[in-house]
Amino acid sequence: MNNVFYNMLIISGPSGAGKSTLTQVLQENIANFYFSISTTTRSPREHELHGREYFFTTKEAFKEGIKNGEFLEHEEVHDNFYGTSIKPITQAIQEEKFILFDVDVRGHNSIKKHYPLAKSVFIVPKNLQVLEERLYSRGTDSKETIQKRLSNAKEELKYANAFDYLLINDNMTSSKQAILHVAKSLMFVNHETKMRTLLAQYAL
Ligand code: ADP
Ligand code: 5GP
Repeated sequence: MNNVFYNMLIISGPSGAGKSTLTQVLQENIANFYFSISTTTRSPREHELHGREYFFTTKEAFKEGIKNGEFLEHEEVHDNFYGTSIKPITQAIQEEKFILFDVDVRGHNSIKKHYPLAKSVFIVPKNLQVLEERLYSRGTDSKETIQKRLSNAKEELKYANAFDYLLINDNMTSSKQAILHVAKSLMFVNHETKMRTLLAQYAL
């Protein structure tokens, strides 16, 4: 990826932390924005659309995708498969889009290895009780699914140190501002890198 510039932000965090809510804010406020639509074998939630939140597929088709080398990374999360497709990312880089990934903590590590300029934010609510309340009030998952996601949250929290930023999503207004600041500062930092390389080329 030498001399290729890209603005990439990876968000991770326990289920119910507020990743989708904050993604929406970026989608509405960042120009030339691209959300990496993952492929998953989990069932769609009521409001979700195929090709908007996710590409929903079967386990068989997902495994075929792995065999064909279609994924940049893929993981089993909460008993389902999730994967990031390579092709649209390569295209979004060429089109100089701002790329956002919403992936689990292991997906984060893989993407960082592929794309070292990427920055990452780990999103958490202020405590597990709030997380539980949000999962129940969202009303999209069964009690069993919520319990599984809560117990996985404790595991996921152990990886928070690997991220560039930690966002405690308590007050919605402050969190929206914080995620926008991170995204915009990332664009500025990468712009600086691009400028330095350009100037070095002129000096040759
Ligand atoms: P995730 O995508 O991380 O699973 P969501 O964005 O779906 O989480 O958020 C889970 C629930 O919590 C949703 O019902 C959302 O409206 C709510 N929520 C998110 N952030 C906040 C916040 N700061 N304060 C109160 N409720 C929130
Ligand atoms: P949900 O089912 O709540 O939409 O997502 C469950 C978990 O899967 C979340 O932690 C989310 O970040 C993660 N996830 C979604 N897409 C991908 C992906 O393509 N790769 C990986 N590794 N994780 C993903």
